[in-house]
Amino acid sequence: MITDKYIDLHTHSTFSDGTYTPTQLVKAAKDANLSAVALTDHDCVDGVGEALEAGKSFGIEVIPGIELAAYYNNPVETEIHIVGLFLDYTNEPLLKKTKEIMEERTNRNIKMTARLTELGFPMTYDELCAEAGRDSCSRTHYANLMVKKGYTKTKKEAFQKYISHGMAGFVPRVLPTPKECIDLITHSGGVAVLAHPTLYGMNYNQIRLMAKELMLLGLTGIEVKYSTYKPEQEREITRIATELGLKSSGGSDFHGLNKPEISIGTGRGRLCIPHYFLQGLRP
Ligand code: AMP
Ligand code: MN
Ligand code: MN
Ligand code: MN
Repeated sequence: MITDKYIDLHTHSTFSDGTYTPTQLVKAAKDANLSAVALTDHDCVDGVGEALEAGKSFGIEVIPGIELAAYYNNPVETEIHIVGLFLDYTNEPLLKKTKEIMEERTNRNIKMTARLTELGFPMTYDELCAEAGRDSCSRTHYANLMVKKGYTKTKKEAFQKYISHGMAGFVPRVLPTPKECIDLITHSGGVAVLAHPTLYGMNYNQIRLMAKELMLLGLTGIEVKYSTYKPEQEREITRIATELGLKSSGGSDFHGLNKPEISIGTGRGRLCIPHYFLQGLRP
């Protein structure tokens, strides 16, 4: 009997802005019949040890990962995301740099809670941390807090009116360069994958040029499958991957109840990422 095996190479736990602990997330992946799952928390590998342990007890391969944000401005000024897979999550330079990134996130959050307070939405940094359950808070947690305090009806409204890039309540983080992100991943034994390139406000030609530029820095993969891709987007990104010789990766970007419409493995219902992607990506 042939049984197709499926995987998910982009997920978030409570160590960034997901609502499942690494153990719960790995269990959910197993329950969804996945053969492998990567934990790729934003700027942080602190959940990876727990995820690997859970992988052993539930009998599913867990890939140590991360999702790093970098500043990019050619020609569109944007934040791009680079997923690292197969990292040595104990690598000292990696831990040092992720700690610095987290400190900058805290600086931003202290400023951004003050900014939102000035705008008429009183909140303290401590309240934000309480909402996140830890002191690594992302804008998802702002949106949750704003709804809880009755400032907006929905999370979507919080993003649309106040906390998206360029809005009055948004304070940017100082981000590393793509080279810093890719070096950090490759120097800790990992492979660097361009995440969800359709989300950067670029056309396909701009995406192709960016991917080429990042390949010179050591990028080896790209997400050709992703929860929000339309069939045409999947086709075009796959075309770019083939043309440039980038390896195929894919993931749901699971965030638990913080993005309730996205399920682990299957995304919005139709996502399926074949196990052979994983074999291709292994360093
Ligand atoms: P931060 O890293 O703190 O700037 O927050 C970014 C996170 O906020 C992303 O990883 C998403 O999970 C979430 N996010 C960003 N934009 C939106 C949006 N329009 N709607 C819902 N969640 C969003
Ligand atoms: Mn997120
Ligand atoms: Mn992302
Ligand atoms: Mn993500």
